[in-house]
Order: sequence, then C-alpha cells, then structure tokens
Amino acid sequence: MLVVGSIALDSVQTPFGAAQEVLGGAAVFAAAAASFFAPVRMVGVVGTDFPREHLRRLQQWDIDVSGVEVREGQTFRWSGYYEYDLNQAHTVATHLNVFEDFRPDLPRTYCCTPYVFLANIDPELQAAVLDQVETPRLTVCDTMNFWISGKRDALLAVLARVDVALMNDAEARQLCDTPSLVQAARRILDLGPRAVVLKKGEHGAAMFTRDGHFAAPGYPLEQIKDPTGAGDAFAGGLVGYLAYTDDFSDDNLRKAIICGSVVASFNVEDFSLERLARLTPNEIVERYRQFRAMTDFGSM
Ligand code: AMP
Repeated sequence: MLVVGSIALDSVQTPFGAAQEVLGGAAVFAAAAASFFAPVRMVGVVGTDFPREHLRRLQQWDIDVSGVEVREGQTFRWSGYYEYDLNQAHTVATHLNVFEDFRPDLPRTYCCTPYVFLANIDPELQAAVLDQVETPRLTVCDTMNFWISGKRDALLAVLARVDVALMNDAEARQLCDTPSLVQAARRILDLGPRAVVLKKGEHGAAMFTRDGHFAAPGYPLEQIKDPTGAGDAFAGGLVGYLAYTDDFSDDNLRKAIICGSVVASFNVEDFSLERLARLTPNEIVERYRQFRAMTDFGSM
C-alpha cells in the first residue's frame, strides 16, 4: 500500500500534557496505522534537520521509506493545542518549509502499488500521484476545508478518480453546500467514488454507498492524551485492512471502518506515535471484538 502526505515535527498541547517537536504528519500516522495490516510504502519530504531515528522508527514498522525525499532545509512543522473539546484542534503555527515545494515523485518500484492512500494534501498533487500509479486496485483520498475552498475544481477532479472519499461532516457540507449529510454524500457519490466515509472524531464514523449506510460508534475511551493524527490513523487502518483483504464489498468496507476506528482509538491514548509503537495485534483483535459487542443489540 502506498501512502502520500505530510511528514512533520509536531508540537502539541492538550489538557493532559504537551509534546515538543515530535514525529507527526498525516502520512506518518496513516502509514504506521496501516502497517498493522499490510506492507506500506511512503512518499513525502523531510528537511535535513529531520532526526534519522524517526526514519529508523518507521522502518521498524516495516514501512518502506525509500520514497521519502530528504531535501536541504527544514522539515514541515505544525503546532497546535486542544481544549476539553478534543475534536477541535487549534492551530498555532504551520511552517510548510520543504513541504511547500513538495512534488511527489514516485520511485519506479512504487508505480505498480495496488492500494493508494492520498492523505490530505493539495488535490493537484493527489492527481499527480494518481497519474504515476499504474492501474491501482483501490484509491482512497482525504481532504480538508482549505482545499475545498481554495482548489475546488482540482478536488472535484480527484474525487472523480478515487474509489473512497474521506472527510468530516463540516467538509462534506461545505463541499456540497447543503446542511444534509445524506444529500452531501449522495452528491459526492455522483462524482464517482463508490463510498464516502465521514469522520466524526470521538463520535465515530459513517459510510454512505449506493446501496446503503453504515454508522460506527466512537470507542468509549477513559484516557485520551492527544487526538492529533486520529483521522489519519483511522484512514491508515481502514485502507490497510482493505489492502490486507483485497475485498471492497460493502460488508468488508464496514469491517475496514471498524479496523480504522480501532487503531485511531489506540493512537489517541498517547502523544505522537507512542501508543502505536506499543500496540500489539492481539490488542487490535480484542478491541475489534469490543466494537462488535458495543453495537450488537440483538433482535426486537
Ligand atoms: P489530524 O489530527 O488527523 O487532522 O492530523 C494532524 C496531523 O496533520 C499532524 O501530525 C500535522 O503535522 C499534520 N498537518 C497539520 N496541518 C497540515 C497541513 N496543512 N497539511 C498537511 N498536514 C498537516
């Protein structure tokens, strides 16, 4: 599976602590989450200041980082804080640095990767990645409000080319200019994707396909330290599971959404990638089982 997106040094403050200049970025969270299910190839850019130990850490997850370019200059940095509403990140600063001129250039060996996750980057770059992969079996993209308002046409063109579109409720409403999420999802499906997955932070996720609707709850966590990267870990778990199973039926998409939710729920239990670094396959299986138990209400 191929993951393309930001690789960052994050500085984060939450009501439960703080972390300075730690490993982050959408591609990193997504790749780490996906690596529990499938081998991952990563494409991104870092500066010469990027600690080598971070690249080694990614390799320990069996993530192929030969598509990560090291460029003269500083690594992308994001800093932000959360208050008690952990669904709302407050950005303090975004320094694009080497990420500003990022032009994804896939190594030859990556071009036939069957499963592709385009994390939240400029839709023109997402399209450039799709141009370089040969007949992928599954393509999934994420996006954000900034691109919906700033590069709408380019984003619509990407949505017409992917199989699964991820975004949050507000972004779906903004993109389709309607308060109704059902209408918004239908309009996005009309553009081309076979599934639209709406991320709802601690409240779970919803999926719309032409044949139906699925809602996953949020996992009731007692201890949340840092929600940064939850959306990306969700996406990584989801696409990783689809890559592992190579089954894109509605039933399997439901399972993939639960796998994404499981990994994301672990990710928020600690800062940066600390929790995913300690996560075991058994813990994933056990929490998946809990998700099932949580949503099984039997017959009337
Ligand atoms: P999430 O919490 O899932 O929205 O993702 C947060 C991650 O996205 C952090 O690790 C940031 O480094 C990264 N990030 C923040 N802003 C941007 C941006 N404008 N472009 C790409 N990545 C970003």
